[in-house]
Amino acid sequence: MIKTVYIFSFGLFFMLQSSVLIAAAGSDEKKQLALYFAKLKADVNLGHSLQTMGYLTELRALAISQNAKEIEIESYFIEAMIKRRYGAYADGVKLNHYALELAKSVGNEEYIAMAYYHLAHLELELERYTLALEYIQYPIDFFINKNAERAALMFLWQSKIYLTMGSYYQALKANKDALQIITPSMDIHLDLAVNLAEIELKLGNTKAAKAALGLVNLKNLDGSKERLKLQYYLALANSHLQTGELKQAIEIAQIQLKNPTSLRFLDEQAQLQYLIAVGYRQLGEHKLAYKYLKRYSLSYDALSLQRRNNKVLQLESHYKFDLQNQKLELLGKDNTLKEQRLAQQQQAFANHRLQQQRWVLGTILFLSIVGFVYWRWQNQRYLVVLKQRVIERTQELAKSNERLKAMSFTDSLTELHNRHYFFSVINDLLIDFNSSPVNTEHQGLIFALIDIDKFKNINDTFGHNVGDQVLEQFSNILRQQIRSEDLLIRWGGEEFLLAIKDASYSEAEQIIETLRFEVASHVFTLNNDESLKVTCSTGFASYPLLATHPHLYSWEQIIELADGGLYLAKENQRDAWVGIKAGNSILHQQSKDVVKNYRVHLVQHTLHASTNIERTLNY
Ligand code: GH3
Ligand code: MG
Ligand code: MG
Repeated sequence: MIKTVYIFSFGLFFMLQSSVLIAAAGSDEKKQLALYFAKLKADVNLGHSLQTMGYLTELRALAISQNAKEIEIESYFIEAMIKRRYGAYADGVKLNHYALELAKSVGNEEYIAMAYYHLAHLELELERYTLALEYIQYPIDFFINKNAERAALMFLWQSKIYLTMGSYYQALKANKDALQIITPSMDIHLDLAVNLAEIELKLGNTKAAKAALGLVNLKNLDGSKERLKLQYYLALANSHLQTGELKQAIEIAQIQLKNPTSLRFLDEQAQLQYLIAVGYRQLGEHKLAYKYLKRYSLSYDALSLQRRNNKVLQLESHYKFDLQNQKLELLGKDNTLKEQRLAQQQQAFANHRLQQQRWVLGTILFLSIVGFVYWRWQNQRYLVVLKQRVIERTQELAKSNERLKAMSFTDSLTELHNRHYFFSVINDLLIDFNSSPVNTEHQGLIFALIDIDKFKNINDTFGHNVGDQVLEQFSNILRQQIRSEDLLIRWGGEEFLLAIKDASYSEAEQIIETLRFEVASHVFTLNNDESLKVTCSTGFASYPLLATHPHLYSWEQIIELADGGLYLAKENQRDAWVGIKAGNSILHQQSKDVVKNYRVHLVQHTLHASTNIERTLNY
């Protein structure tokens, strides 16, 4: 009947599968998948394990395609459970570990707890109790305040572990813990009752065991509780055995041994056989006892073998797992090392580049500084040279200026100062008269204009060159006669200006007479060894004209008056001199008029003339 429903439901599943796949992952499809899965779980619980394996794989593929992680995890739990039922513990452990990792990756606490529960179950089968106890603690802690029935299930398994270990009181406590949190309506109370009976039997409390078993209503044990049923009868038989009801005990055990279910549970099968052997031994039926003991021995060996094989396999798988982990770890370390090395290399490369850049920058900076310093040094050197050159040039210029000045102030033919020189020094010569009161003895500055007589004739007769020689020799005569402080100027052509310092009028007359005499008595020698006589005429006047009124006549006017005297000397005789000085009532006359009309004023005696000409002068 069950099988028919199952086949029908999977027929429906395959009919729907294609449409489910086409419809892709929608919420409806997920619900449908969950539904199929619930059905599958129920089927597995009913014991149809092997038949469901194929469908389980298909269903898991569908769950993966729909990204239904919970269903995928559960599919591993179921597969592990089926594997466990058939003694493939190692596969069971592997699948549960896989489920555990998956649950961890999606952060599903409940599935993590369930994975530990399944693992505890497996470890109990493999007789690794410490590990089993460790594993079962996790789901206990998780479910204790969330789901009473689940928590009770975990306590039950804790109790079973203790029971198998021989820790009966701890087993009793765990069982009690479970009983405290459940309500009678929960199915698990049947399991707890059977378990309690088993513990009490171990403790020798037959009564209590029987009382516990009395709580179990067999009608409530459906197909999914076949092992529990077997355990119930085992406990019942044991309780009979303990109270000496041997035949009853043997009978119960034999019925269960004939039940095909007992073949699936090797452990219970072995215990039933052992129980019968003990019963027969106590009845004195040694042959039968031996027969069952032998059977028990075979079952026990098979069980041990199964466990040992699984242990070996599991050890192997653990070893492989560890090895793989080690390899992975090594690979990881190697990768880290490589990464570190790469990072180090990159760092070294970066450092090297940085160093290079620093060097380049440093070199550029250094060269720039050196270049700059060199440039400054060169500049400074050049500046020093330039300064030196400027100094030299300035000095040269000053010298050449001096020379130029000297040249511009000197007459090249006679080497006497020229008119320019006179104009540059005249103000200095007059300073004394401007600042201090004039001496009463009439010491003044005499301006005398000396002109060679008939010089044109010399040029005309002997040539210009001879004229020049005459000019040179004439200059020398004058130079020799004058004092060093006096000023002799070539005034122009064959005309000279003599400025006699600090001289009175009469002193001037003597000096000029001497000059006239020296020239007239000198024999001028020419190129062609010819000789020549030359005379000169002089006109002079004194500055200031009036000692009492020094600023009445300017020096220019005094020279004009001297020129007037020169004219008179030429006109009246030549080889003569005429001096002009102030006469009476000159103060009543305009200086300009006096100078301009000096001849009239000589007649009127506003001016006076003194001369070496012996006859009366014509004005
Ligand atoms: P006076 O007695 O009236 O002064 O007659 P003079 O011939 O000396 O006067 P004049 O003014 O008629 O002539 C002056 C001459 O002097 C004219 C000119 O050629 C000449 N002379 C001027 N400067 C120089 C010179 O540097 N060298 C020569 N050889 N002759 C000059
Ligand atoms: Mg002249
Ligand atoms: Mg002349």
